[in-house]
Amino acid sequence: MTDLPLEPWQWPEETWRAKVDRVRAGRNLKPKAWPNGARCAVALSFDVDHETNELRDGGKSVGRLSWGQYGNRVGMPRILSLLAKEDIQASFFVPAVTALLYPDEQRRVVAEGHEIGLHGWIHEVNTAVPPANERDLHLRSADTLEKVTGVRPVGMRTPSWDFSEVTLAIERELGLLYDSSLFADDDPYELIDKGEATGMVELPVEWIRDDAVYFNMNRFQALRPYTAPETVFDIFRREFDGAYEDGGLFLLTMHPHIITYRSRIWILEELIRHAKAKGNVWFASHAEIARYVKAQSGL
Ligand SMILES: [Zn+2]
Repeated sequence: MTDLPLEPWQWPEETWRAKVDRVRAGRNLKPKAWPNGARCAVALSFDVDHETNELRDGGKSVGRLSWGQYGNRVGMPRILSLLAKEDIQASFFVPAVTALLYPDEQRRVVAEGHEIGLHGWIHEVNTAVPPANERDLHLRSADTLEKVTGVRPVGMRTPSWDFSEVTLAIERELGLLYDSSLFADDDPYELIDKGEATGMVELPVEWIRDDAVYFNMNRFQALRPYTAPETVFDIFRREFDGAYEDGGLFLLTMHPHIITYRSRIWILEELIRHAKAKGNVWFASHAEIARYVKAQSGL
């Protein structure tokens, strides 16, 4: 008789407890004050997936690949000119394959003062990759981004925010300052690795603050944009207003092939205008925010 794996309802306490304790949120790192008396921090991020959204699933649809190219041809220039006009620094999370396809694009991002962060090799799903391969892919991605842009990334956003049981150990091996893929708070916190404080900062994400959730479309599935742009703006604005009230962090994830269409880019413009009109808002890259909250908390 072979031993069948236990069903979750059969697990002894140590099994479910060990799973939960693998990676936890530790100290809240929301600072007592933001730089220059700012009321809250705003972290705008763009996940530069481009064609990797199709490649990662082994896809070969020329149509869907061309959707990725839109991100390079139209999306990125539109985002970069808006950020330049508003004089705002942001963070761009880039799969290594994107950087290899469009090295000039990524060099421009760095030249214009923005941050480049890790976003997997080909947008692979970490929990579906064997641990040794996952490690190799993250290490090669860090080397590739550095080689293309001349800057070594200090942060990671895992592709699809999928985080395996070994991801944190690999991030620590890479000596990263922060991760931005997990969900345990509105505000920055310290990551705990199997009960051990890591000194690494988490800048938490949420599907609520992600353009892809509202606007993604797949012709052959039931996936459609069901939410009107005005409603998406309203959700993002309320998330910002809440962060402003709490003196916390407003972190938004967007994609060059999703937010930049003529009927949508106004959402980002209007949001920036709204934040600036409130006053006392610190727009900064993820790395700057992670560095600041880490220093303030004495980590
Ligand atoms: Zn992505």
